[in-house]
Amino acid sequence: MEGEPFSWERVHPIFSWYHTGKVNMTYESVDRHVLNGKGEKTALHYISETENWSLTYRELQQEVSRWSNVLTASGVKKGDFVFVFLPKHPHCYIAMLAAINVGAVVGPLFEAFMEEAVRDRINDCEGEFLIADSSFLSRVHREEIPSLKTIFTTDKETGDADISITKEAEKADDEFETVWVDLEDGLNIHYTSGSTGKPKGIIHAHRNMIQQYQTGRWVLDLKDDDVYWCTAHPGWVTGTVYGVFAPLLNGVTTVIHGGRFSAEAWYQVLEKAQVTVWYSAPTAFRMLKAAGNKTLNKYDLSSLRHILSVGEPLNPEVIHWGVEALNLRIHDTWWMTETGAQLVANLPTRSIKPGSMGRPIPGIEVTVLDEGGEELPPFETGHLAIRASWPAIMKEVWKNEEKFKSYFPYGEEWYIAGDLAYLDEEGYVFFQGRSDDMINSAGERIGPFEVESKLLEHPAVKEAGVIGKPDPVRGEIVKAFVALNPNYKESKELLEEIRLFVRGRLAAHSAPREIEVIQELPKTQISGKVLRRELKKGEIDQAG
Ligand code: ATP
Ligand code: MG
Repeated sequence: MEGEPFSWERVHPIFSWYHTGKVNMTYESVDRHVLNGKGEKTALHYISETENWSLTYRELQQEVSRWSNVLTASGVKKGDFVFVFLPKHPHCYIAMLAAINVGAVVGPLFEAFMEEAVRDRINDCEGEFLIADSSFLSRVHREEIPSLKTIFTTDKETGDADISITKEAEKADDEFETVWVDLEDGLNIHYTSGSTGKPKGIIHAHRNMIQQYQTGRWVLDLKDDDVYWCTAHPGWVTGTVYGVFAPLLNGVTTVIHGGRFSAEAWYQVLEKAQVTVWYSAPTAFRMLKAAGNKTLNKYDLSSLRHILSVGEPLNPEVIHWGVEALNLRIHDTWWMTETGAQLVANLPTRSIKPGSMGRPIPGIEVTVLDEGGEELPPFETGHLAIRASWPAIMKEVWKNEEKFKSYFPYGEEWYIAGDLAYLDEEGYVFFQGRSDDMINSAGERIGPFEVESKLLEHPAVKEAGVIGKPDPVRGEIVKAFVALNPNYKESKELLEEIRLFVRGRLAAHSAPREIEVIQELPKTQISGKVLRRELKKGEIDQAG
């Protein structure tokens, strides 16, 4: 229907609930495909240093059913919170799908979380159930989490847990009667990355699938034969929405890679699994770039056809690297834990403007507002705002109505992201920084992103984080923290060269007055985002 404005209702008929009235995310992600004759297709392909195996959609359905039977027999009911604390492994996917299958709200925890991160999250929503790897259990201090009733382990030995879910599953029936829910019922709880402060517990509903499926098609460009790899762990919202839901809703083959980041290992996964669509983050692309073309050229990556990025500003330099090294454009996408799915993106067939995150996808309206809530004309920076509502928007901030309301400071019409941006005359969105990260130096407002991107164009700079350092005269001065590429040594001359490099290419007021070399930039654990607030705190502490 060319010409007619897109409406999300047009997506509904692909789901079985549209025809039957019975809703469940797991059913739509797994069972529906088996019923539609896709049972023998590979759903999950697991690759680690020592393992390489797959599960078809039918095998996944059977395994999820067995685990669902164990969960139900162990007292897990609709609406309960089930936390999942597992490495990147098919068990993690099966656990999440089984929890959803029995009507529970799943809370995936990042595999590297330490005691307090685990405790605070489960305590926040008084979670009763946990499915964990036994080697992670030393980080679960049960006596500090009084709500916790049952711990399942994925090991065959029960150990410190109460039930071995894998052992029980062996005896369980491989058929399960899906627990039906409403589109509005709770699906998952995700804590935000904590880039700007205490993580918020965001509750999402089953209706999210509408947008998650459709963005899988439009933005990830998933087609029947694709082999898709999202590098994020499900503990970060990207790893759940675009690692588990979107690819399974689209019925493609999903690659799961266990293990830590290394350029060699990642290129091996791309080659071995013949990945066609790849979704990762700027920090990973920057590390691959730093690893050099010699490493890259050892691998045959010719299966790749579409690459995407999320989570942080995608520096133009990284896009240029993609085109040169991989012969592909990297497509930026923007969304938040709270938005539940992508809202702004570079669609595969559209032009990319490096430095821009792309345009709002169909069905989404974006604008930029000033401090008073008035819409700003193109090229003026203000608060990035999205017209409410859309199918994947959060259901609530857990036990924090105030916080939920804070996303709507100008009324119900506009959701305020907390990011600063401007639009160009064609509606491309240019991210400038988080509202909290804006630098105010001698009356000039400077977004850290532009300065960081310029720094990255200098051959010596591997990574950069830019902040406003408190200054008695200017209010703030632009201060850059940089990590250097392996072949460069810190020297006064080099830092001056970098400073002049930015000054000559951006503007005098945006050039960092101070540059400090550090080994590594502080980053969020789950999503690898540069923690500018940490850098800034260090400066403020130093100033006393
Ligand atoms: P917290 O809300 O706890 O401070 P967080 O905002 O990093 O952490 P997420 O929900 O993981 O938690 O991230 C959403 C934010 O990530 C966005 O508000 C934006 O600042 C940033 N972001 C996401 N995608 C992009 C992108 N493509 N370009 C620039 N920034 C992005
Ligand atoms: Mg946020």
